[in-house]
Amino acid sequence: MTCWNRQALLSMVLCSSALAHSPQPLPGDEDLVVRRVSEHVYIAHGPQEFPNPQTAGFMNNPGFVVTRDGVVVVDPGSSVQIGRRLLHSIRSVSDKPIVAVFNTHVHGDHWLGNHAIRESYPHARIYAHQRMLEHVDAGAGEEWIALFSRLTQGATDGTKVNGPNIGLKGGEVIPIGELSFHIYHTGKAHSDNDIMIELPAESALFTGDIVTNRRIQSARPEDSDIYGQIRAVKVALGTNSRWYLPGHGHSGGREIAEEQLLFLQQLLGAVQRYYEQGMSDYEMVKPVKKDLSAYSDWYNFDELGRVIGHVYLKVEENAFQ
Ligand SMILES: [Zn+2]
Repeated sequence: MTCWNRQALLSMVLCSSALAHSPQPLPGDEDLVVRRVSEHVYIAHGPQEFPNPQTAGFMNNPGFVVTRDGVVVVDPGSSVQIGRRLLHSIRSVSDKPIVAVFNTHVHGDHWLGNHAIRESYPHARIYAHQRMLEHVDAGAGEEWIALFSRLTQGATDGTKVNGPNIGLKGGEVIPIGELSFHIYHTGKAHSDNDIMIELPAESALFTGDIVTNRRIQSARPEDSDIYGQIRAVKVALGTNSRWYLPGHGHSGGREIAEEQLLFLQQLLGAVQRYYEQGMSDYEMVKPVKKDLSAYSDWYNFDELGRVIGHVYLKVEENAFQ
């Protein structure tokens, strides 16, 4: 079995082992392209696109970990269709059952694929932050399903809410097979229910959307707190992992988290500066974009204005504390 090394991962060369033994895909059941990161860890990189009919809403990075006792999935995607395709890909690597799933946060592109896991493995444990369980109880799943159905013109229809059933607080160490899954939650960051999952034995960290690679997080800026996200990215860097597996964009080494941190710090610094000069949020969009022009080739840079508006609110909130 050919394994990924660091160079290969960074240059995005396909792992031959992941696809060489794939069964012939059925129509509409094509494998997701799976890349091997380390001995036990695999990831599929979703397209850097917003949900659309062609991708069936696929946009996140589902991951999985093959242990002695079964397979553990991280964020099985945006719909039952994507979840099934992920399972198909997993079966090309391992015939072990799915024993557990982690959902990094409540945004639907990361977890609506739980449906596909549940229909094949009804007893798999699905872990998430406790607050995500509360959001799902309050109807977040139905809202996300309706949104994805609209954006994909029905390509995700049939997806049903299958929320997590085990709530976490952060700080847990969960042994599965020969591996330990270390859970981090550092308060409100990209959302109020983010978890990161570290596999110290693999030197790998699933960051969820606390770290994304070369992407402006403009979809739900109202859910985030830039101060908290900066703290969380520092915690991610503090794990000193060799592999950083972001929620969107390609995986790689710690430079991905370092770049995310620098971007957030520069964004916050610019908004603070113009706030102190008395500018309103819409007045500062142009100068902030100019100050951050080094990031203009990041996905969705044009939408930075939406993010600035929410960072402005946090800066204002902070000024009155
Ligand atoms: Zn998200």
